[in-house]
Amino acid sequence: MGQDGIREQRQVTVLDEGVLTSLRDDATADLPRTAELRHALHRVPERGLDLPLTQQLVLDALADLDLEVSTGQGLSSVTAVLRGAHPGPAVLLRGDMDALPVTEQTGEPFTSEHEGVMHACGHDLHVAGLVGAARLLAARRDSIAGSVVLMFQPGEEGYHGARLMIEEGVLDAAGSRVVGAYGVHVMSSTLPAGAVASRAGTLMAASDTVRVTVEGRGGHGSKPYLAADPVPVAAEMVLALQAMVTRQFDVFDPVVVTVGRVAAGTKDNIIPDVAHLEATVRTFSPATHAAVPERIARLCEHVAAAHGLTATVEYTRGYPVTVNDAAEVARARRLTHALYGEGSWVEAEVPVPGAEDFSYVLEEVPGVFVFVGATPEGHDPATAPYNHSPRARFADEALATSAAVLAALALDRLAQDAG
Ligand SMILES: [Zn+2]
Repeated sequence: MGQDGIREQRQVTVLDEGVLTSLRDDATADLPRTAELRHALHRVPERGLDLPLTQQLVLDALADLDLEVSTGQGLSSVTAVLRGAHPGPAVLLRGDMDALPVTEQTGEPFTSEHEGVMHACGHDLHVAGLVGAARLLAARRDSIAGSVVLMFQPGEEGYHGARLMIEEGVLDAAGSRVVGAYGVHVMSSTLPAGAVASRAGTLMAASDTVRVTVEGRGGHGSKPYLAADPVPVAAEMVLALQAMVTRQFDVFDPVVVTVGRVAAGTKDNIIPDVAHLEATVRTFSPATHAAVPERIARLCEHVAAAHGLTATVEYTRGYPVTVNDAAEVARARRLTHALYGEGSWVEAEVPVPGAEDFSYVLEEVPGVFVFVGATPEGHDPATAPYNHSPRARFADEALATSAAVLAALALDRLAQDAG
């Protein structure tokens, strides 16, 4: 038996078909309510860690569900614990809540009323879908052995909101550490509405930022030998970084370095004192994520030294690699098949080079993050505007899929220990 035996045991679906059918049907029947909440959220998008209007809409939506609700200290999060009728472990479901600095151009009847802010990444659907999952679970409380922690999280778009909620104790909100964690992300393109996609292992990249200051000595452009010109040295670094990516890292565990900003000088015949580079760095494994800062620093410092200049390298960690637990992906795949048929699951062949702060949760707890298709009807998933576009539209139907899949994951994980 050994390891294989354990894996086999973990892969047994313990929810029977009747439970899943009722989840699917109830999620569909609840769609008018979840869509209404989603539209209300969409009208008042907020950015960052302080989302008072969004938080109030969540609190109002949860008010009649008999949950243990608490709010964050350093951010406007909502943590709600749903207690089952029977004792058991706890699992976590997460929905991020924040919007983006985008001016909406969708023409939706529920278009943003906040100038220059838009739910362009579909986090309004994550909130409403999680409320939908809470209603599905609350209606089944009598059959639940254990607890479900509902994590309504601000500040996904670069503010490390998930890490802050972990620091404030969300993983232990039910009184014991959660044993499984689940989240969804809707996609306005690439996946047809209702499709569910994920993969075992790395699903999304880590995203870091590096800033390099090349320090030379300015002078007259006609006499560079009397100066220490930082511009050709910075240019050499831009190319050397690309050589580093392909020569120092495994092609099957890739690194993406994009120097998106190069800045130096004022005029054609003046050699500046300094040159600046800024790059985004994407990695796809925790080991490479750990190794890459030192390699970039070594390269930039030594290229500068080779020319008698100095370089200061400032490396800022963004979000870690999002890594799915293989057994939890198998659970999500099986439940999606059972809920919506075999064709509804899409096995993602490669990771997505974007980053996601649910990665902080998955560093602590085995779980799975899945993409849910929300391409509007009549649009080609291959060409519809992508997440973050001012024209990105998300189909409400993805709310029912998200709610049912999240509720099924929680129930199935809890039933595993009870069974
Ligand atoms: Zn997002």
